[in-house]
Amino acid sequence: MNSIERIDATIHFRRPDRVPVDLHNFQPAARATGLPLPEVFRDGALLAEAMLVAWREFGHDMILLENGTACNAQACGATVTYMDNSAPVSHTALIKELKDVLTLEVPDPYRAFPMCEILKATRILAKETAGQVWICARADQGPMDLAAQLRGLDDFMLDIAENEEPGLVDALLDYCRRVATRYAIALIECGGHSTSIGEPVAGPDMLSPKHYRQYPWKHEKRMVDELKARGIILHNHICGNTLPIADDFIATGAQVLEIDHKSDARALKEKARGKTTLLGNINTGLLHSGTPCQVEDACREAIEVMAPDYGFILGPGCALGTDTPADNIHALVEAARKYNPY
Ligand SMILES: [Zn+2]
Repeated sequence: MNSIERIDATIHFRRPDRVPVDLHNFQPAARATGLPLPEVFRDGALLAEAMLVAWREFGHDMILLENGTACNAQACGATVTYMDNSAPVSHTALIKELKDVLTLEVPDPYRAFPMCEILKATRILAKETAGQVWICARADQGPMDLAAQLRGLDDFMLDIAENEEPGLVDALLDYCRRVATRYAIALIECGGHSTSIGEPVAGPDMLSPKHYRQYPWKHEKRMVDELKARGIILHNHICGNTLPIADDFIATGAQVLEIDHKSDARALKEKARGKTTLLGNINTGLLHSGTPCQVEDACREAIEVMAPDYGFILGPGCALGTDTPADNIHALVEAARKYNPY
């Protein structure tokens, strides 16, 4: 099997020849270019080249392409700061009151920066890899995270807790869903095999399960449904312990759930078995500071717990830190070849 066949089998609960492996490595890949990170993260050609060099070195099955967690916010008009040592950040609210969302327009991803640069990177990767690797072109952020960026995290959490304007909370989440969906479709048009949203603000570390069900859930579900109707595979990425919302998280129908090491993998696998593919969940702290042997042990355990009955992609639990050692990344990729449960 090649990487595309391996991941296609995995996502559809057929037997692959081994567990596929992904890397969430845009930060170390950009650092390895030797260029300033802001330059790489603003330029689709440089970003694509960085991801290609890393793919040729590590040989993973799935490339996760993005320039961080502020792409959609910037395309909507928010101010974004490009950092020297990590991904760009968006800390300044775009709207002062909830009702201001009614004046916002959904950006055209082919024209709005930096979406247009990530589309360029997707096209280059698709051409240069010629069907040899699965490209997940990420439509970060999802409805909840983008809403928190555009409104400001503290104010949006208060909007939800006080619940005085539920119609406008939903209007903002709906706008953000339309932004991410429009972008996701463009990423697939440019050659992505799947796409993804990041929704860490929707997770129990940030938002109560009750509020997850009340607000972001239905917008995530609608996004999944709209993309599925077009045959598009969506990953949903929520950091932290997702077990308290696992049933709802799975019920969105997202074909891939990206999980980190804080969730009980055994319990999540029981819930996800036959319904959705789990991707993760190796601790990025271990990948940054541990030894290759420790990384290998963690991968072996993850495969033992989550690979049975298929539907498992091995990878980091979240974005790899900029200075993650290459030896540990090799250990992660090699573990998928070494410990084959099939
Ligand atoms: Zn994460």
